Amino acid sequence: MNEELKIKFWGVRGSYPAPGAETIKYGGNTSCVEIRAGERTIILDAGTGIIPLGRELAKRKSSEMILLFSHLHHDHTQGFPFFVPAYIPNANLHIFGPGGTPETVKRVLEHNQSAETFPVSLRDMPAMKDIQSVRESQVIVWDEENVRVTESNIRLSPDALVIRIYKSHAHPGGVYIYRITWRGKSVVYATDTEGYVGMDRKLIAFARDADVLIHDAQYSEEHYRGCLAGFSSTQGYGHSTPAMACEIAASAQTGELILFHHEPAYTDAMVAAQEAAAKKIFPASRAAYEGMEIDLKAVRHFEGDLARSNPINNTKIASSGSTPSSQ
Ligand SMILES: [Zn+2]
Ligand SMILES: [Zn+2]
Repeated sequence: MNEELKIKFWGVRGSYPAPGAETIKYGGNTSCVEIRAGERTIILDAGTGIIPLGRELAKRKSSEMILLFSHLHHDHTQGFPFFVPAYIPNANLHIFGPGGTPETVKRVLEHNQSAETFPVSLRDMPAMKDIQSVRESQVIVWDEENVRVTESNIRLSPDALVIRIYKSHAHPGGVYIYRITWRGKSVVYATDTEGYVGMDRKLIAFARDADVLIHDAQYSEEHYRGCLAGFSSTQGYGHSTPAMACEIAASAQTGELILFHHEPAYTDAMVAAQEAAAKKIFPASRAAYEGMEIDLKAVRHFEGDLARSNPINNTKIASSGSTPSSQ
């Protein structure tokens, strides 16, 4: 049986595609990450990175796959109209994402491909498409039988691939953070999220002990604070700095931290500086680049004492009924 569990990055840029000589090292395509778990393919977001991935999946003759939308902003959906498997009649796409009603994701994809905006409608893409908006309390399971959405606390087979959701409000309109687990290994995908003062406690609990944490780190500290020449402050935009990503990784004691959703105006040198800033706080940090692959089975958890010595991490969390400010 094929037991490999790998992550591959196809698009790592935030907001809009950024081609050109200054972005060759990290790449200019918008968000798209592939997870291969044995014979199963899971895709996180459909930024322009999904376009080359689609060609690759067609070559591999992959016919069934899950596509998860973190949210429905342009940079996470704009590659979908060019996704080759959606044009293959016997392909089977299970598409999930957030939304106020079960039809929200479908409605937005239809709108993106309305007659006025794109020559092919969603309906005219011949692949079989099961498109559903799911709730935070639901769990997506892919086991020997099928792909299905269920409620928590179900009995699962050891080979089941399980996708859990944390609905974060740290991005305009909200965003889904996913935890994908298979055979005891986990990856958490936390893009488009801004750090809170004192950290996002729910995110720390959700990402606890994950082998890989993919976390938004769009802005440098100077940029975020409005001190970077030519850029205004981005506080409240719903994106993080490397330090915010590191705080979560250290507190959740994850394996690797992968900085993601790079600012499109940043050159390769600026993204490299983001990586260097992160390594000082959480040594097992790297900036995602197009084509980067991670074998989850080879990831080791950082064994330094950073998490224990981090003063933020040592902040006493108030037990139920009281808040830190009331003490
Ligand atoms: Zn985005
Ligand atoms: Zn967004």
